[in-house]
Amino acid sequence: MKLVKFSLCSALLAFAYGTARCEEDGVLLFKDVPFPIEARIAPGGEPGSRLFETPLSEPLSADYDTVLIDGLMPDPDVQIQIRVKYGANFKVLTQSESKRFPNGRFWAKFQLGGPTREPLKIAVTSGGAASASTLTIYSAEVFIRTAEKEASGKPASADRKFTHFDPKPPSTELSFIQVDRSDWGARQPMGNFVAHSPDMITLHHTQGSFPSNYTNAVTEMQYMQSYHQAKGWTDIGYHYVISPQGDIFEGRPVGMMGAHVSGKNENNIGISIMGSYNDMDGPMPTNDAIYSLIALTKYLQAEYKIGANRFYAHRDLDNTDCPGKLLYSRMGILKSLLFNPSSGKTKAMAFKPLTGGVAGAAEQLSGASELYPALRDLLDSYEGR
Ligand SMILES: [Zn+2]
Repeated sequence: MKLVKFSLCSALLAFAYGTARCEEDGVLLFKDVPFPIEARIAPGGEPGSRLFETPLSEPLSADYDTVLIDGLMPDPDVQIQIRVKYGANFKVLTQSESKRFPNGRFWAKFQLGGPTREPLKIAVTSGGAASASTLTIYSAEVFIRTAEKEASGKPASADRKFTHFDPKPPSTELSFIQVDRSDWGARQPMGNFVAHSPDMITLHHTQGSFPSNYTNAVTEMQYMQSYHQAKGWTDIGYHYVISPQGDIFEGRPVGMMGAHVSGKNENNIGISIMGSYNDMDGPMPTNDAIYSLIALTKYLQAEYKIGANRFYAHRDLDNTDCPGKLLYSRMGILKSLLFNPSSGKTKAMAFKPLTGGVAGAAEQLSGASELYPALRDLLDSYEGR
């Protein structure tokens, strides 16, 4: 049954690319209101009065008892409600658990007493905010709370020392720097990791914020760990997350199974690019992020002997539009960049994707273009957009 739905969904996407939206498992969709949803919040209003409301969600194909919202709330003086439609009435859920970071990134969880698959609305009510703001909802999902829990394995080692890879890869001349878990202030995992043997890579976008500097990217990492743990996962789902500045953040240790593709996490390395790339006219991944993706992936393919046929976009494996239409449209170029045998000049090449910002990347690009003409093509296709 699932397979049929998936095939139909893929066919719809193929024939009506850009217009058809298919229901992703557990992801809420609202007709004519795509994510990210922006709610303009006017100041004042009676506490509890409704400031914003989505339409009813599209029909769901599975039961849920938990709703999880992920977004950006610049002003904390508002409240989010979930309104579940039962016949002519709405049952109002107030949040059961939430976390808001000082920069406004937040998740909020809502729980029902029992399972349902009735549609719902997301509403925002006044808490007496003094000034206008815009509340952004990046995603909203529903699930049965026990079903989302990851299986816990035996601890990788008694004291939970993580297996870091060598930042100077032994098998290639490409070099890059990793921002370790301890560097970005990762909390302890909520359970034990399960060891695996990587033999494939899946590319994602975070569908979250687009941090403007390193400090904000660190906060986004802390936020994502908290958000993913709120889903009941052991830890952040991805193995690597790349910021717009090109920093490569360590998520889960690469030798431990992640949580990034439903049912296909074993031996699968998850790399995610910060930001949302669904909008064909929206912002692109930065040159720095693409550079780091190439350096990291080249290292991983050499280290774990991963071929081009084992490099996937999330949507190749699952019922989702991740990593977004825009990034997915560049998968062909990315694959040719990553997997075409490079010339014998590779030894003269050293990637330093973390220094110099955009100007530095441009300088490196002029050196790289000889070895990676496809990279030039990729970036030109960005500029000529
Ligand atoms: Zn994904």
